[in-house]
Amino acid sequence: MLELKHIKKYYQVGDTLTKAQDDVSVAFRKQEFVAILGPSGSGKTTMLNIIGGLDRYDSGDLLIKGKSTKTFKDSDWDAYRNNSVGFIFQSYNIITHLSIIDNVEMGMTLSGVDAATKRKKAEDALIRVGLKEHMHKKPTQLSGGQMQRVAIARAIANDPEILLADEPTGALDSETSQEIMKLIKELSKERLVIMVTHNPDLAYQYADRIIKFADGQIQDDSHPHVEGDKEDDFKLKRTKMSYITALRLSFNNIRTKKGRTFLTMFASSIGIIGIAIVLALSNGFQKQIDKTQAETLSTMPVTISPVGTDTSAAMESTSRSKSFSKNKYVTAETSAADKAQHVNKLNTKYLNYVNGMSKTLAKNIAVTYGTGMNLVRDANGKYQTVKFSNANPDSNTTDTSAMMAAATGVGGSVYPIDRNGNQSFLKKNYKVLNGAYPTKDTDIVLVVDRDNVVNINALKNLGFKVKENQKFDYSKLVGKTVKLVTNNDYYTKLPTGNFMPGTDYKAMAGKSNTKTLTITAVVRVRSKKSDGLLASGIAYSDQLTKTVLNENKNSAIVKAQKATNKNVMTGETMDATTASSMLTVLGGSKTPSSIQIYPTNFKDKDKVLDYLDKFNKGKSKKDKVIYTDMAGTVSDMTGGLMDAITYVLVAFAGISLVTSMIMIAIITYTSVLERTKEIGVLKALGARKKDITRVFDAETAILGVGAGVLGIIIAWLCTFPINAVLLGMTDLSNVAVLNPVHAIVLVIISTVLTILGGHVPARMAAKKDAAQALRAE
Ligand code: ADP
Ligand code: MG
Repeated sequence: MLELKHIKKYYQVGDTLTKAQDDVSVAFRKQEFVAILGPSGSGKTTMLNIIGGLDRYDSGDLLIKGKSTKTFKDSDWDAYRNNSVGFIFQSYNIITHLSIIDNVEMGMTLSGVDAATKRKKAEDALIRVGLKEHMHKKPTQLSGGQMQRVAIARAIANDPEILLADEPTGALDSETSQEIMKLIKELSKERLVIMVTHNPDLAYQYADRIIKFADGQIQDDSHPHVEGDKEDDFKLKRTKMSYITALRLSFNNIRTKKGRTFLTMFASSIGIIGIAIVLALSNGFQKQIDKTQAETLSTMPVTISPVGTDTSAAMESTSRSKSFSKNKYVTAETSAADKAQHVNKLNTKYLNYVNGMSKTLAKNIAVTYGTGMNLVRDANGKYQTVKFSNANPDSNTTDTSAMMAAATGVGGSVYPIDRNGNQSFLKKNYKVLNGAYPTKDTDIVLVVDRDNVVNINALKNLGFKVKENQKFDYSKLVGKTVKLVTNNDYYTKLPTGNFMPGTDYKAMAGKSNTKTLTITAVVRVRSKKSDGLLASGIAYSDQLTKTVLNENKNSAIVKAQKATNKNVMTGETMDATTASSMLTVLGGSKTPSSIQIYPTNFKDKDKVLDYLDKFNKGKSKKDKVIYTDMAGTVSDMTGGLMDAITYVLVAFAGISLVTSMIMIAIITYTSVLERTKEIGVLKALGARKKDITRVFDAETAILGVGAGVLGIIIAWLCTFPINAVLLGMTDLSNVAVLNPVHAIVLVIISTVLTILGGHVPARMAAKKDAAQALRAE
């Protein structure tokens, strides 16, 4: 059955050489009960371990059923231990965090026996060793004799051909020893049993054959055996631990140390908590910053007016000498303010340049013109002229252009249609209280302030009869229409050559070129900060202005006005400024009264400014166009600083993550040390190195997932008090928001890092010499 041929095993420790096996040759029968006697340190255990495949011989050969083991690989030894050998140890070596049944099943679990067969065989084995009544107890509730019976059941559960026992009664009282010996004697009837013992009485009483051992050599053999030539062929079934088994083993182990496990998880989760909170905060702050930026920029667009202020020029001329002048004359000089005045040439070329700007930088660009609109409306049963204006209709003004403007309805607010043709500006900043957002150029809206108040003049100018504080149902406003009349239909040329506004408003309203403007909605600003973005009253799209401009630019009155510097209505001579504003109001000037560019955030705004600056490059002073960047004066709380802070905080939290990873490694290492015996037992039962690694990897994976989840839960709980404190300090609500994607990623990171940290000790555990592991106390 088994044959040792010239087996040698030496240990060299320092200068001393121990010959644990010194040329041992012996053969064993297929069925016999062999007792090995000998003084301590004589090499008995070493021989048993070599026979059982737990330890390797230096030279010689071990033949199993005539087959040499010289060429055995690790996997062959693992399978041999699992299939053919059962071990019984002096110190039982029961895995205490597993149930009795699980202990007995372990060998079969490793070789992948199905659950039902496994359970049946385990129960049979337990009944056989006389533990029928005790099999559902915990290992720690058993006496020494009972523990050894469990160990015996574990050894025979898989019905091995060889049973190896190393001083099985060494820790038992004499009565119990007798019982165990009887049991082993019984088992030896079906297999080869080799038992090492200190106790010659027991050996002589039960064994069939006594081998005396001393100094690594066989001194005496009571019943030697010579192996025959050939035995039945010898096949081994490979062992393999499933991931589930590894997880279960580790989970059971962790379960027995709840407190420590929780503390470990908590400590390891601190890094995750830190990173999660930092991310949650920066998330929230970024959102706030984006919101603030967008709000600031929608109220403070980059503006280009016909007359710009050149701030650098203004600075230059305000500098004065420190002392008083000694000159005896007076010098004339343009004032600083006048010098700074710069006339911008807002011609088509510039407009095209502005429109050439990338849509991603500024979706909304509003170009407004001072064009007036000829508006009439059927108010109170009678057609009359109306205006989009908040000017007091009852007050008198002496300024002709203002009078003109008032008469022709320049006023109301203009909002941009974005460059993709959408109402993004209005939708983003204004909420519809009643009605619907405009869909056409001829759709107009009534803007109210935060208190739903509208300027009374706006309504008066629309022809409503209004008393102070009068309340209007939305239905009184939404759906109301105003007629927009072209210059040619509105003005009549008199025989004198002068033009006069007509008076038959009803007829004008019916003309084919007349457009119907409809109030489609009452809208209110969404955010307090953008209040006043559009003045309360009527607002219409810049597209409508462009339409009016295009329609009127070739009208008779515009042509006539262009030809003269006399007012074509009154015949008065006008100065250049008045003449030009007159032409503008009539729709004869293509010069915009302002261009407003709305970038989405500060970064984009800087790019917009760069783009505008590029236009001025290399141009003479008079051809330059100067813009006003109102938002530039607002403190630049850009995301850049926030990003930097986030990186620093994440770095700190990352350090704690690494710290916790190192801690996990240390804890796994401790666990490896603690479970050395268990590793030995698992190996004796046929576990591969990989299986051992798997068990510890599984343990760290459980710890990692646990730490990650715990960390996320704690971080999430922390966001509530953090938000409460922030709300109290800054009136920003819900700043810390944990992004679920971040949460999942962090759990994964925690798991991966923990497994990495625990893998090195796990590998160390797997490499542990099984024989040595079992010697450990
Ligand atoms: P026994 O079981 O008969 O008491 P062992 O087989 O355990 O004896 O040991 C035989 C000899 O080998 C002893 O002298 C022991 O100190 C030595 N020995 C066993 N294992 C090692 C080891 N890993 N390193 C060094 N010496 C060892
Ligand atoms: Mg020993």
